Amino acid sequence: MATANFDFKSGDQLSSRSILIWRIIQIAVWLLGATILTCLLFYPTIGVILFWNILIPVAPALFVVAVGVWRNVCPLATTNLLPRQLGLSKRKKLTATQLGQFNLIAVIALYLIVPLRHAVFNHNGVATGMMIVAMAAIGVTLGFFYEWKSAWCSGLCPVHPVEKLYGGNVLMSLPNANCDQCMNCVIPCPDSTPNMNPKISAKTIYHKISGLMIIGGLPGFIWGWFHVPDEAQIVSFPTFLNVYQLPVIGFAVTLVAYLILSNVIPAKYERKLISIFAASGVSCYYWYRLPALLGFGKFADDGLLINLKDVLPTWSIFALIIATTVFFFYWLVFRKKNNRSWVVRPQFANKEDNLKAVLSN
Ligand code: SF4
Repeated sequence: MATANFDFKSGDQLSSRSILIWRIIQIAVWLLGATILTCLLFYPTIGVILFWNILIPVAPALFVVAVGVWRNVCPLATTNLLPRQLGLSKRKKLTATQLGQFNLIAVIALYLIVPLRHAVFNHNGVATGMMIVAMAAIGVTLGFFYEWKSAWCSGLCPVHPVEKLYGGNVLMSLPNANCDQCMNCVIPCPDSTPNMNPKISAKTIYHKISGLMIIGGLPGFIWGWFHVPDEAQIVSFPTFLNVYQLPVIGFAVTLVAYLILSNVIPAKYERKLISIFAASGVSCYYWYRLPALLGFGKFADDGLLINLKDVLPTWSIFALIIATTVFFFYWLVFRKKNNRSWVVRPQFANKEDNLKAVLSN
């Protein structure tokens, strides 16, 4: 019987008991998400803390260790897949070009939206809530037309490029709690491909550019982002542009470094290089984010969760960020690739796809 353990194999179908358990977890997380959204819209001070200072800081580490957990329970995904679950989707397939274009838009959206946190979202819960509502509206609309996760979760979602970069060596493959049968709607499916990385598909120029932008650009972008203070008020267009300046410079520097390195190293080390850039990105994030959460940040109260400045010695924070950096480099760079996918592909609906999968194993 198929259960949610490490031995779940490709093509295994979930038992009705497992489906029930996953549905209960999805509903619980959806209700949690709805509560955070309600807080953002009606109690913005609490909402901002819950969303930006608790939920978001957990996400990168979860993507590294077990992104399949998030893929199975993300409240936005649960909402966006409702048309498909209820049989209301036209279930169209995106072409490779369309999917590549969606992936590129997702990366650009990520780089455009994140600096706006300094200008708007970090101190405006209502604006953050409206952004989430807008994303849900786009995702649900796409869900009425396109098959399973293809258009949003593996296409336009701005978080997805980060999942692909960080989720290259996950701890375990969970059952796929969304797709009941695999319709081969995304090729390669990011959920079902072992040791996923953003360069795994280079079918079109859009895939190639989006892969380069996220692998090469993200570490520097994160570094730049953490060197910009939250602007309480955007008084002019130049102040607005200020929030983009350092992230864009950081993005350009590491992108160029990545382009040079990927051209000079032998092709067999390309995966290792991607892992190093992934580890650099996530380590840089926690290098700055953990001190800020605990009151040791560069800019006073920016990103503060609980002020422990008078409680903890400074060296303990330094030890903490060294430890997280060592952990992420071990996990992503030095740990052997374990050939696990984020979730396990359910049985193909199409018999030919099943046959091909059996022959390729
Ligand atoms: S598992 Fe199959 S149906 Fe589900 S998203 Fe991946 S390709 Fe599409």
